[in-house]
Amino acid sequence: MSIDFQMDAQGVVTLSLDAPGQTINTMDAAFRASIAAVADRLEAERAQLRGVIIVSRKKTFFAGGDLDELRSIPADGAEAFFQMVETMKRHMRRIETLGVPVVACLNGAALGGGWEVALIAHHRIALDKDKRQFGLPEVSWGLLPGAGGISKMVRLLGLQAAFPYILESQQFSAREGMAAGLIHALAQDEADMLAQAQAYIAAHPASRQPWDEDGYKLPGGAPNHPKVAQMLSVAPAALYEKTRGNYPAPERALAAMVEGAQVDFSTALRIESRYFTELCVGQVAKNMIGTLFFSMNEIKAGASRPAGFDKCTVQKIGVLGAGMMGAGIAWAAASRGVRVVLKDVDLSAAERGKAYSAKLLAKQVEKGRKTQAEADAVLARIQTTASLPELAGCEIVIEAVFENRELKAQVTREVEAVLGAEALFASNTSTLPISELAAASQRPANFIGLHFFSPVDKMQLVEIIRGQRTSPASLARAYDFVQQIGKTPIVVNDGRGFFTSRVFGSYVNEGMAMLGEGIPPAMIEAAGLQAGMPVGPLAVTDEVSLSLCAHIAAEARAALGSAYLAHPADAVLARMLDEFGRQGRAAGGGFYDYPEGAKKQLWPGLAAFAQAGKALPAMQELIDRLLFVQALDTARCFDEGVLESERDANVGALLGIGFPAWTGGTAQFLKQYGVAKAIARAEQLAAQHGARFAVPNWLRQQA
Ligand code: NAD
Repeated sequence: MSIDFQMDAQGVVTLSLDAPGQTINTMDAAFRASIAAVADRLEAERAQLRGVIIVSRKKTFFAGGDLDELRSIPADGAEAFFQMVETMKRHMRRIETLGVPVVACLNGAALGGGWEVALIAHHRIALDKDKRQFGLPEVSWGLLPGAGGISKMVRLLGLQAAFPYILESQQFSAREGMAAGLIHALAQDEADMLAQAQAYIAAHPASRQPWDEDGYKLPGGAPNHPKVAQMLSVAPAALYEKTRGNYPAPERALAAMVEGAQVDFSTALRIESRYFTELCVGQVAKNMIGTLFFSMNEIKAGASRPAGFDKCTVQKIGVLGAGMMGAGIAWAAASRGVRVVLKDVDLSAAERGKAYSAKLLAKQVEKGRKTQAEADAVLARIQTTASLPELAGCEIVIEAVFENRELKAQVTREVEAVLGAEALFASNTSTLPISELAAASQRPANFIGLHFFSPVDKMQLVEIIRGQRTSPASLARAYDFVQQIGKTPIVVNDGRGFFTSRVFGSYVNEGMAMLGEGIPPAMIEAAGLQAGMPVGPLAVTDEVSLSLCAHIAAEARAALGSAYLAHPADAVLARMLDEFGRQGRAAGGGFYDYPEGAKKQLWPGLAAFAQAGKALPAMQELIDRLLFVQALDTARCFDEGVLESERDANVGALLGIGFPAWTGGTAQFLKQYGVAKAIARAEQLAAQHGARFAVPNWLRQQA
C-alpha cells in the first residue's frame, strides 16, 4: 500500500504517504488503488472518526504525477485515462467531504499532484523552510493541474490571483504560502507539526472545504463581475502573445479556470479532467516532459559523463579575460563556493570584471536573497590580478579572452607554464575548433572546450567540447565542475561552431537569406517569434553584431576552402556592412534602429532588399524554414559526429539556442513531426532553397 492507515484511541487517523520501494511519492497506479481503499476504510470507520492527518514518510511530502505514465498515454487512450482521473478524484473528494477535519503536514516539497494531495486538507501546516517547494508546475511540462488543483486554487484565491500559480507555475515557500492563504500554519519540526495538527482537529470538530460552505463566494468576484469580466476579456490575448498558439497547456488551463468558475464544484472538476486528458494525449506535453524532465534528469545523473572516474570537487579556478564572459564565469563559480583568480591584461580591467559580481550581489542583498556577510564572502573569493604566477595552484583555468586564435594560443602557452601538470585548460571560444586551439598546448589531453552562454548568471547551459585529444578523465572533471557550479552540461565533439553556435547560426542565416529574397523584414521577424524562438533572426543578428557574423563566415571560408557551402546570407551581410555600414546594435544600428529611450524599429533602409512584384510567401512556409533549418543542421551534427546523444542535442537546443520548448528540441522536432513527413518536407524545402535542407542520413536512419 502507498498509504499507511493508523487510527489512534481518540479516532484520529494518520495517513502516511509511503510509496513502497521508492524514494518519493507519486500519483501512480499504486497510489490510486490506495486512495480508493483509504476512502472506503475512512467511510467505514466514520462513526469513530474524529479527524485525519496526512503525513509523508519520505523526505519530501509528495512529488506529483507520475510523468512517465503521463507521457505514455496513447492518442486512443483518452477515454480510459479520463475515467481513471475522474475515479481518483472522486476518492480524493470522498476524504475531504467526510465532515471531519483533514490536516496536511507538509514536511517537504509538495509539487503538482503533491500540492493537489495537500489540497484535500482543510488545514495545511508546513515546516518553516525558506524553500520554494510548493506549487503547481504542470503547465511548464505542457500539462495542467488535473487532480483538483485548478478548481481548488481558483476557489481559494479567485481567478486573477490564481493566474501566476497555474499559468506561470509560480512556486512558493511556506511563508509565501502563508501570506497567500494557501498554507495555514508554520511548524519548527515534525513533532511541532503533529501537535499542531492534533490541536486543530480538537478545535474544529466539523471542518469543510471553503467551497462546500453555505454562501461560499468566489474571492475577487465571479467571471461575470464587471471587473473580472473586463480582465478576462483581455487575458486570452495577453496569453497568446506569450504562447503564439504553440503551447496548449496555458490556454487549456485558462479555459478550465474560467469555465470551472461558472459551474458547481463537481462539474468544475470534470471540466478540469477533460482538458487535462486532452493535454496528456497530445504531443506537446510528451515533447516537453521528455526533454525538460527526463533528459534533464539523465544529464543530472551524469549520462554523458565518462564512467570510471571519481567525482571531483574543485577548490580554485583561474579565469583569463575579465570581459563580459570572464566576469560572468567568475561570478558563477564564486557564488557556488569556488575560489577564482580573475586575470586580465591590467588590474583595472580585472577589477571591472569583479565589479560585475559586486553589482549582482548588491541586488541580491537588496532583495533579501543574501545577507551582506554572505555577499562579502562571495566577493572575497574573487582575487583579481594581472600577473600570471598568481594562477599557480588553479585546478582549472578557463580562458575568455578575445576570439582570436593567436591570442588564445599565446595565453595557453603562458598559463600552462605556471600550472600543475594535472590542471585542466578550458577555452570558452564560441566558434574556434578546440582541437586546433589545443595545438598550442603541451598537454592536449587536458585541453577542453567549456562554452558558457551570455549572460552567464542567467543561462543554465554549458556546452562541453571534447577535442580530438581530450582525455575521458578531463571530460569527467569538466562535467563535475559544470555541475558543481549549478549549470547543466551537454557534451559534444569538436567541429566548426560545435553544436549550439552552429545551429543557432543556421537560424540567423536563414532569416538573412529570406531578406535577400525580398521577403518583408517584419514578416521574417514575426515568423521567428511565431515559431516560438525568443527573438527574431534579424534582431538577434544585431545583438551578435553583423561584423562578427561576417567574421565567422570568413573564418569558415578560409578554413574550408572549396568545401565551403556558399550561403545566401553572405551577400546580405556584405551589403549591410559594405554598402550601408550597418554593423549591429553595439555600433548604433543594424537591421534595426535603436532610438534613445524608444523601442527599436526595423531600419527603413531595408527597403533596398525589397523585390517589386514579389508574391508574399505563406507564414507557415517561413516558420517551417526557420525550424527545419536548425533541426536538419542538428541531424547533420549526428552525421558528422559532433553530436552523439539526442538527449544532449535536445537539452542544448532548448537551454542554449532558445529553440522552442513545445518541440522538445531540435532532434525531437523532427521525430514528433513524423520522420517520414519530415523527410518529405525537407525534400520540398531543399528543392526550393538548396542543399542546406537536404535530408541528412541521421534522419533517414530514424525512419
Ligand atoms: P570581451 O571582449 O568582453 O572580453 C575579453 C577580455 O579579455 C577583455 O577584458 C580583455 O582585456 C581580456 N584579455 C585580452 N587579452 C588578454 C590576456 N592576454 N590575458 C588576460 N585577459 C586578456 O569578450 P567576451 O564577449 O567576454 O568573449 C570572450 C570569449 O568568450 C571569446 O572567445 C568569445 O568568443 C567567447 N564567448 C562569447 C560569448 C558572448 O556572448 N559574448 C558567448 C560565448 C562565448
